Amino acid sequence: MKKNDYIDLTCTYLSTDAKGVCNKRDFCFYVDYLLPNEKANVIVEKINGKTVYARLMDIMEKSVDRIDSNCSSYMKCGSCKLLHLKYTKQLEFKKNNISLLFKNKGIKAIINDVIGMNNPFNYRNKVIASISLDNKKIVYGMYEENSHEVVYNKNCLIQNKLLNEILISIKEELDKLKIKPEGFGGVLRHIMLRVGIKTNEVLVVFVTNNDLFPGRNELVKALTKKHKEIKTIIQNTNPRITPIVFGNKDRILFGQGFINDELLSIKYKISHKSFYQVNPIQTEILYSKAINMAKLKETDTVLDCYSGIGTISLTISKKVKEVIGVEIVKEAVNDAINNAKINNIKNVRFILDDCKKFMNNYHSNIDCLFVDPPRSGLDREFINSVKRLKPKKIVYISCNPITQVDDIYQLLELYEIKEIQPVDLFPHTIHCENIVLLEKK
Ligand code: SAH
Repeated sequence: MKKNDYIDLTCTYLSTDAKGVCNKRDFCFYVDYLLPNEKANVIVEKINGKTVYARLMDIMEKSVDRIDSNCSSYMKCGSCKLLHLKYTKQLEFKKNNISLLFKNKGIKAIINDVIGMNNPFNYRNKVIASISLDNKKIVYGMYEENSHEVVYNKNCLIQNKLLNEILISIKEELDKLKIKPEGFGGVLRHIMLRVGIKTNEVLVVFVTNNDLFPGRNELVKALTKKHKEIKTIIQNTNPRITPIVFGNKDRILFGQGFINDELLSIKYKISHKSFYQVNPIQTEILYSKAINMAKLKETDTVLDCYSGIGTISLTISKKVKEVIGVEIVKEAVNDAINNAKINNIKNVRFILDDCKKFMNNYHSNIDCLFVDPPRSGLDREFINSVKRLKPKKIVYISCNPITQVDDIYQLLELYEIKEIQPVDLFPHTIHCENIVLLEKK
């Protein structure tokens, strides 16, 4: 077998990253977008020993679980790897993946069914679009997988509809004003949009590689005239060549530099650099579920590590004596302090620190510890501090169950798993949020 050979295969199961796995002639094939029981023709792309990565060319026999997708970027942008799978089956796939992680560690665990969305479309409240030029006209979208080619998509099925509309207007104005992207004689790199779904307020950021941004005044004028929902526009300058979108320098071109939103009846001011969950409908379910699982008491002291703009801390605050939120991004901590003020919440403190260092220096009682770390999970030092402080309960919320299960494994000498509840925050992608409740033995 060699690269570019065409082969007929039958898929037996889905790998944890949603590739169809097929065995043939001692080789194990991995094929994106192929489902179990499907017969297909594929082209060999890469051979690594007995492992072959192949691209789907034609499906001869379709699975009963396959649904047609009407996304123009399907199989190109690489974000929605499950768009062709019935939603109920996506939820089963995510539950099985989490089950497997616990099983592989030798941990016996019962996992609740994944809580899915009633309407799993247009849920993303944030867009980061890359910009390019095609036939002298602006195109925007995600980069193609493993490349820097922009996949133009005017109607992303998982993005908020208003943001899709505003992106079309931005494209029209950029074309009209002849504003060019970086690499095509211009300075524009990315466009970031965020919407508050309860308030319909929109924040727009233009990321440029230079402070000079010719045409910006006309652009701001045209956009704010056309879309009253746009409450603020920011220019962020990032001259460095880096995969990180934002640079250090911000200039507010319109409005106050933030938007408002509401989660579980608490008001939030959100700036562009702060982390804010991308699926607010499911976030309300996630937080409500996590808080219920914790069975908090009025006398409890709660520590909320990786607190972002304070959403978990502020939601818990009504139920407990006090909450301490710890977060490393200054803008997020400022947002969190402000959010406590505007909601008149007085029993919450926010601290700007690395959670690892904070925990190392902390010596008081914790009744319940909430952790919601980034994909990399908790580090060894943090876990050692948890073992020393021994909070009665730990609610571990994670967007990456792989690191979550590794971290939990290290706590099992002192803690037992009481409940595992996945919540689908990212329909059609392979990702899943997961809550695990641990109690001290
Ligand atoms: N709980 C929040 C935020 C979760 S995202 C919410 O649900 O909205 C994870 C957060 O951890 C981000 O805000 C990120 O800035 C922060 N973070 C990452 N590394 C950190 C560290 N070492 N110490 C403290 N906070 C950190």
